[in-house]
Amino acid sequence: MIIAVDGPTASGKGTIAKALAAHFGLPHLDTGMLYRAVGRQCALTGGDADNPNDALAACAFPDSLLEDPELRSEASGGLASRVSVHADVRRALYERQRAFALQPGGGVLDGRDIGTVIAPEADVKLFVVASVPARAERRFREMQNQGRSVSLAEIAADLDLRDQRDRSRAEAPLLAAPDAVLIDTSNLGRDAAIAQAIAVAEAARPC
Ligand code: C5P
Repeated sequence: MIIAVDGPTASGKGTIAKALAAHFGLPHLDTGMLYRAVGRQCALTGGDADNPNDALAACAFPDSLLEDPELRSEASGGLASRVSVHADVRRALYERQRAFALQPGGGVLDGRDIGTVIAPEADVKLFVVASVPARAERRFREMQNQGRSVSLAEIAADLDLRDQRDRSRAEAPLLAAPDAVLIDTSNLGRDAAIAQAIAVAEAARPC
């Protein structure tokens, strides 16, 4: 079974994707980490994230970079959002994600374009959304728990900017697939959001 979980930053899609993977015993791929690794590699090698050639060269990042805790920072998220607009970068990361989706038994992938580009044939497609204040508050708590100092206002502004960039880019913009089920987590606790996602996936589960 292939499960596609898309949605904007801090909407809760990662938490939902992990819970679905555990529930169905499927492997999980957080595709945002691939774009974060490209962004960070680009910065580490002195490249410019807005330059398509520099960003493409950074797609050859070493796998060990995926373990770098710095990938979770707001700075890496911003860099990821910048490199992800380049068509060549998206092409370079396509095969890796597609192969993950097509492995025997399937898997759960979360990102922005899983249901539209990477696995349009997914058995289950979820599009997870939440209001900017709810997402900013969540991300703020996450950053505090990681001991990172950022203000709530900075986070909200950053989310807004990344949303705009992700939605307006020409290549694979953040967009719900027509057959995706929308889950709004603005007023849902973690357990309620997970329960809703599991119910949708159970109902769509192939026999
Ligand atoms: O999900 P996460 O916040 O880790 O993603 C970081 C950035 O990577 C996003 O803002 C988006 O620009 C990009 N991304 C993407 N396509 C994906 C996953 C992430 O463009 N499938």
